[in-house]
Amino acid sequence: MGKPTGFREFDRKKVPWRLPVVRLQDYNEVYTEPDETQLREQGARCMDCGIPFCQSASGCPVDNLIPEWNDLVYNGRWQEASERLHKTNNFPEFTGRTCPAPCEGACVLGITDPPVTIKNIENAIVDRAFAEGWIQANPPAQRSGKKVAIVGSGPSGLAAADQLNKVGHTVTVYERADRIGGLLMYGIPNMKLDKGVVQRRLDLLSAEGVEFITGADVGKNVDPQQLMKDYDAVLLATGATKPRDLPIAGRDLNGIHFAMDFLRANTKSLLDSKHADGKYISAKGKKVVVIGGGDTGTDCIATSLRHGCSQLVNFELMDQPPKDRADDNPWPQWPRIFRVDYGHEEATEKFGHDPRDYCLLSKEFLGDGRGNVKGISAVRVKWSKGADGRMTMEEVAGSEHVVDADLVLLAMGFLGPEQYLVEALGFDTDPRSNYAAQHGQFSTSVEGLFAAGDCRRGQSLVVWAINEGRGAARAIDVYLQGSSMLPAPGITLGTATAMTV
Ligand SMILES: Cc1cc2nc3c(=O)[nH]c(=O)nc-3n(C[C@H](O)[C@H](O)[C@H](O)COP(=O)(O)OP(=O)(O)OC[C@H]3O[C@@H](n4cnc5c(N)ncnc54)[C@H](O)[C@@H]3O)c2cc1C
Ligand code: SF4
Repeated sequence: MGKPTGFREFDRKKVPWRLPVVRLQDYNEVYTEPDETQLREQGARCMDCGIPFCQSASGCPVDNLIPEWNDLVYNGRWQEASERLHKTNNFPEFTGRTCPAPCEGACVLGITDPPVTIKNIENAIVDRAFAEGWIQANPPAQRSGKKVAIVGSGPSGLAAADQLNKVGHTVTVYERADRIGGLLMYGIPNMKLDKGVVQRRLDLLSAEGVEFITGADVGKNVDPQQLMKDYDAVLLATGATKPRDLPIAGRDLNGIHFAMDFLRANTKSLLDSKHADGKYISAKGKKVVVIGGGDTGTDCIATSLRHGCSQLVNFELMDQPPKDRADDNPWPQWPRIFRVDYGHEEATEKFGHDPRDYCLLSKEFLGDGRGNVKGISAVRVKWSKGADGRMTMEEVAGSEHVVDADLVLLAMGFLGPEQYLVEALGFDTDPRSNYAAQHGQFSTSVEGLFAAGDCRRGQSLVVWAINEGRGAARAIDVYLQGSSMLPAPGITLGTATAMTV
């Protein structure tokens, strides 16, 4: 275990982010270089408790062996920590940067004290392993002769590709975008996940033999039936890319965009030309309203600030969460509490206050008479719990008001996968229009066709996408070979899907 008295000696100390005033000047990652002594002290806080809830139950969805690598870090055995970490997680550099860390919500130390900084330690292990050259391409010694096509190159498709390639299958990943990575590349902004970090892992996968084909929109310019014939198995990992709309009056005015159109174009233009091509939706000098919270809303806030918006409001329909866990949200559940993310901190730095305005319902988009949005008519709402325990919303009379806006970004979540592959291949969907396949089996109603990640479970988290990619790889390996040496990641009791994106 770490240090037997570590949790009594050392307080929780997170690796700090760069100061908002500094980081607002660029699109670099918000993180600072971690201090080794501090990390070892944080590893020492791990109590090696009898049941490590952090790595199971409602904790880590990929069952990371957290107490083991905490101990190795405390003892300065970083290379072994990296080996242990990669046993359960193909891409700890992605989760170490982006994961909301349900593990920390389930840390036993968290019952009485602030939990161990698990996510920081995970990130430091993998960054160090890359810096030391411990992570090198390791292609399989033998090929199985079986071919697998993966449609979609987000974390679920990539995790499946890595696992299947490791056991010798020949893997080709088809991606409709011009770059590989799914939301790791074109959703989560550089400030949270540098695209060089994504590319570094993609280069390793390529060197190990995974083939990537970009600009390949299966169901549009690639025939899915042909894929089914050409490959021994096909995995769909297409994400949950259908955005939730806000169909109120004035929705067709200019200046109202889905969050992903804003974020995708921003990252592409940044990567292609450092914004010189102008091919993005600019928030410069604009009064921006972001409708909806979660990671997507935060990323829109942070990006708008970097463009140089003149005003920023973030509408939240729900009530502000409590500062501490509510009675119906006990440990080890994911704590549904008020959090200040990087974008909120930065907006406070620039405008002097947190941009979030709670209990606000948008009623109508107002135009300027020339077809452009100029404001939103909104009303305050009150939430109450009915006798059946369900929350109901009531408008507060007299609270109608107008919020100025010349750029509106809709970040209200996603409604599952697009349906054109369902129509082309004729497999079943579930009542929420996700691809129907059971966790653990991942097979659809069509023989040889599998589904994993957000297209199967609905919009979720990077760590869940990795869980599903790993699980689907095992299921496909069993389908192809009759048995598999690949691990089967569990279904934690996590409330992770309640964490909004
Ligand atoms: C803005 C934003 C920020 C987020 N931030 C976080 C965060 O901080 N932490 C976190 O844990 N989670 C975050 N998430 C959620 C997380 O990114 C997703 O849960 C995760 O990426 C899902 O992985 P996936 O592989 O299932 O799908 P995706 O990452 O969505 O990848 C699917 C890929 O399939 C491709 N595709 C779709 N259809 C086809 C087709 N027919 N042919 C070829 N290719 C196709 C798409 O172009 C895409 O590249 C965020 C989500 C968004 C939208
Ligand atoms: S992947 Fe997420 S839940 Fe798992 S250890 Fe890392 S930060 Fe925690």
